[in-house]
Amino acid sequence: MPKTEPSLRPLRGRFAPSPTGSLHFGSLVAALGSWLRARSRNGTWIVRMEDVDSVRSVPGAGESILATLAAFGLDSDEPVVWQGQRLDLYEAAFEQLKTLGAVYPCRCSRNDLAAFDGIHPRQCTRHAGSSPPAWRVRVDDRVIAFTDQVCATVTQQLDREVGDFVVLRADGRFTYQLAVVVDDADQAITEVVRGADLLDSTPRQIFLHELLGLPVPSYLHLPLALDGSGRKLSKQDQARPVDPADPLPALRAALAFLGQRATSGNCVGELLREAIAEFDIEAIPAQPQAHVAMRKD
Ligand code: GLU
Repeated sequence: MPKTEPSLRPLRGRFAPSPTGSLHFGSLVAALGSWLRARSRNGTWIVRMEDVDSVRSVPGAGESILATLAAFGLDSDEPVVWQGQRLDLYEAAFEQLKTLGAVYPCRCSRNDLAAFDGIHPRQCTRHAGSSPPAWRVRVDDRVIAFTDQVCATVTQQLDREVGDFVVLRADGRFTYQLAVVVDDADQAITEVVRGADLLDSTPRQIFLHELLGLPVPSYLHLPLALDGSGRKLSKQDQARPVDPADPLPALRAALAFLGQRATSGNCVGELLREAIAEFDIEAIPAQPQAHVAMRKD
């Protein structure tokens, strides 16, 4: 557990959107929260475009997200990295897992696993077949625990609650769980700040970090923005994009959403400078919140 606590190393944070649509209020909250945290600690903040899932990626969405971030004053301190250009890194990690004997081929479908509540029984029903298999990593029976800086202690026993999970899909695409671990380590990320929808992915990621012998970052999960019916705002569901031509109302709403004090700045730069000076990690609420529709000032 202590492994995930904040260290004295200079902070390196990141915002890692999937280019599946335009930047909406929920992603702005994650971008701003991670940016403020890094800036308030004189750290480095980088943007990584998570386009490893080429099927879900929407052409042009990555560029649109970057342009919107720039309009909101949130620029990456280092060149933006695109996962689609780093497949050799994921391949190398996958080969390492193979060498460790930690992965096995599997042709079970979701339907096959439904009878086991989605937890892989480790006895594949479809051994034969000419189709390429997916590859699963074998988890163990340890309880993985970490102390989130907003959501307190989180525990998960992977073998009971998640089961052996896929790192390479049958169609040859690496999964988010593998890519995010390789990238966070390769980019020397010390603290992962992101939405609380990824809380239950974190133990899988800690497990992979440890298996691959990579340092484990600390974690801070931000409250989720929900739509009127209580569902997470999502780019794929075409949540209303934030307006790059009018960033101040959305920035103020995102600050309020993160429990931060209102700032009086009348331009993006001024508002952000005040927000850094006032940033209070203790004020970030741990619970998901309903998103209140923004009005123009
Ligand atoms: N790419 C993920 C998303 O857009 C975020 C992953 C992460 O921050 O670890 O939801």
